[in-house]
Amino acid sequence: MITTSFFQLFKIGPGPSSSHTVGPMVAARQFREQVQSWMNTQDTPKEWRIRVELFGALAATGTGHGTHRAILGGLMGAQPETVNTEELSRFFEEPDKVYQLTFDTVDIPFTESAIFFDFSLNKYRHPNTMRLLLLEDGHVVQSEIYYSVGGGFVEREGEEPVSKYDLPPLPFPYSNMQELVDFLEESGMKVIDVLVANETVLTGWEEEQIFQQISRIMEVMEQSVIRGLQKEGELPGGLKVQRRAKGMMDQAEKLHQQNRYAEALFSRLNAYALATSEENADGQMVVTAPTNGAAGIIPACMAYLKNDCKIELRTLQEGLLVAAMVGFIIKDNASISGAELGCQAEVGSAAAMAAALFSYCYGGSIYEISSAAEIAMEHHLGMTCDPINGLVQIPCIERNANGAIKAYNAYLLASGRTSKPIISFDQVVEVMRQTGEDLSAKYKETATGGLATSFGWGNMPGS
Ligand code: SF4
Repeated sequence: MITTSFFQLFKIGPGPSSSHTVGPMVAARQFREQVQSWMNTQDTPKEWRIRVELFGALAATGTGHGTHRAILGGLMGAQPETVNTEELSRFFEEPDKVYQLTFDTVDIPFTESAIFFDFSLNKYRHPNTMRLLLLEDGHVVQSEIYYSVGGGFVEREGEEPVSKYDLPPLPFPYSNMQELVDFLEESGMKVIDVLVANETVLTGWEEEQIFQQISRIMEVMEQSVIRGLQKEGELPGGLKVQRRAKGMMDQAEKLHQQNRYAEALFSRLNAYALATSEENADGQMVVTAPTNGAAGIIPACMAYLKNDCKIELRTLQEGLLVAAMVGFIIKDNASISGAELGCQAEVGSAAAMAAALFSYCYGGSIYEISSAAEIAMEHHLGMTCDPINGLVQIPCIERNANGAIKAYNAYLLASGRTSKPIISFDQVVEVMRQTGEDLSAKYKETATGGLATSFGWGNMPGS
């Protein structure tokens, strides 16, 4: 049964990676609280130190994703939603700088050398593993293993996940699309009413508050588009990737003036997606949608629906909730993590969610919504996660633009169809899961295959 809330899926935080930036910050902050509790049990201050070990994909692409900076932020008490991204980007600029982690009665000095990237075989159960240790007079007194499982979600080893049976029962439970569709057919209810009712239980909020909070998420998405469209220049990380959102929007204006309206609209959708993805790559504040790597797709489609199609606010809010429903089903039955199942799980999921968003906003039935999501995911199957230098730039930024366009086309393909889809959304999610499991580890955010290793073959044209 799905028990993920909209606000667990769509979270505000800094780029560039939900599993390698947001998740580690959350884990480090949790560990900080544990350290504080431990200190409270000690009579006299000791010489304490904190050590961090990164394994698997976290070690492989952690530097490019700013994992080390996010961990320092979390150890200092920062939270993804409110962290100062400018300060965060400057952490460890001076390699030997000593940072003071301030606790109630003592400061613990911390340097970059306290973070170890372990490139040996990852023996833990998840590709994104980190271990945090508290040493007292040189001896380990506290040790925790955390798994960053995608979309900023974190699990702690040994900690029982909150049992679904401990949660208050949801008024309208479902585990997959078919169960939801069956229930809607039997009850005659609208999908949005089901989702809102469940959300009131998951959050404890009234309907009005839920929509206020959805607006807050939409505002961060919109601001990421607006900021990204204003900026130009080179993105950090050394690949010399140039921001292109503003230029793409200028191109859209020119196309419009030449009466090439369809191309102009597609260029605008591209520009919106590039804008947020470039902000994400720059470590700025975005929304996990459902991850940071894929953070450009849904804001682009929201901007397009708002600015170019003049869809009203309430419909957009509801459409985002419907998009979240698609994300819940994927997360529960497969994964939204590139490190687990490749880019199909990130960009594919975001495109499926965005296709559902388009379909809902244009008045699509639950059958059309489901079909649009299925088509969008189907045409991302097998997509690898192979970011160059572990930066969320190539292929990620253009991939978001393509994901937005594919989402739009998936909606078009699904709308008004008279034949019954042969492959269901639930089937394609299962195929995505199986395909992802079969993918070599080289193609799961480890920067050891695909485009990641093609870099340096020579001066190739293109991105
Ligand atoms: S290739 Fe895809 S899954 Fe991998 S980091 Fe980039 S956007 Fe995320």
